[in-house]
Amino acid sequence: MDVSLPKQSVLLIKKSANGEGMPALSSGESIKTGGKISDAEGKLLAYSPVTGTVAEIYNLPRVDGDFTAVDVNTSENDVWDENCRGIDNYFDREPGALVSLLCDSGFALDIRKDERPDAVILNCLESDLLVSINRNVLAEYGDTIRRGLRLLKRISGSDIVIIAVPGDLRDFAEKVAVDGSERIAVVDLLKPLYPFGMKEIIPRALSRKGIRRPLVITPEYLNSIIVFLEHGSPPVHKFITLIDRNNVRINMKVRIGTPISHILREGNIKISELDKLVLGGTMRGKSSFHAEFPVTADIDAIMVQDRDAVVTLGNEACVNCGKCIGVCPNKLQPHLLARYSEFSLFERCRDYDIDYCIECGLCAYVCTSRRALVHYIVFAKKELAKMAKEGDHAIESDNIGEGLACHPVK
Ligand code: SF4
Ligand code: SF4
Repeated sequence: MDVSLPKQSVLLIKKSANGEGMPALSSGESIKTGGKISDAEGKLLAYSPVTGTVAEIYNLPRVDGDFTAVDVNTSENDVWDENCRGIDNYFDREPGALVSLLCDSGFALDIRKDERPDAVILNCLESDLLVSINRNVLAEYGDTIRRGLRLLKRISGSDIVIIAVPGDLRDFAEKVAVDGSERIAVVDLLKPLYPFGMKEIIPRALSRKGIRRPLVITPEYLNSIIVFLEHGSPPVHKFITLIDRNNVRINMKVRIGTPISHILREGNIKISELDKLVLGGTMRGKSSFHAEFPVTADIDAIMVQDRDAVVTLGNEACVNCGKCIGVCPNKLQPHLLARYSEFSLFERCRDYDIDYCIECGLCAYVCTSRRALVHYIVFAKKELAKMAKEGDHAIESDNIGEGLACHPVK
């Protein structure tokens, strides 16, 4: 389902750690779809997802970081920016130059000259339960994906290209894997088990072992790269799965910046008081406190949970049953991480490899005491990051006036 343009759109731009991320825009200014939004130094921050007039720009602090919000009154006349032009003969360009061009254009492609990926993995599993984006993009945009895989093979320098799919997508994957008489990828069938679709886990789930530094990419992302190269259109759309309170799903194509309330209306979903609105799937989604929050590039699903189905996590004591340890895909000790976080012993969390937690949510899902394990872990990660930042500042101020000071890291 194609979601119509909203009357008002909200573009969220994440600020960097040092507070950068303020667009060189002012209220009343006109913007066009696909137009670059840059800061005062000309650094690309985002692309405008709509045509319209900037209504307001303001700071928006959130749990997951600080953002600049750009409210845009959307015009019904959707006009693409005249600078949105495809790149001639992009396939024949020198690989390093093409990777730089894509990175400068806002695509995060981890291809380095000194450390090339040893495999390209097209991850067609989903990021969370009940999400069904990647399977649909693979089925609908197979030709574009095939061209994308050829390109990635060339610019990454890797001979191994794997399409990781659940068994029911085998035929689609095989069509994508073969170009004329040439096979460009192998198809690896995986059980659609959570959390295999997470990029940190999928290399381990494959039948081919020994892959150490893969380039993992989803069909949606690869499709957006090729559309950008061939037509010049930056990724202003997002595919999402809308999940209602009975787990009925609709797949939607929606402009980034569209308020969730607009999507719920188009999906004919009403929310009642105390229902829970979740951005993301059942395991990793985050609650939203109001329906005017906009769709961002990292939201794969919008889910409405009935008020009676909402599970309340609490602060009950851990009974040391060990279930959370058994289920953790990274063999961590979630009960200890949560306990250290609860008592502000954040440094101890480091001793227990907190950085390896991928926030899959499985530990909290099985917890006998319904402890908010992931919340504690995320809180500890944030506190540790804050402490590291303050440590950096302390080192900087220690160094003032001392020339080449070599203070130990605090
Ligand atoms: S969220 Fe829990 S189960 Fe998942 S990786 Fe982190 S500690 Fe392990
Ligand atoms: S599952 Fe919950 S109760 Fe059991 S050990 Fe882990 S944190 Fe404790």
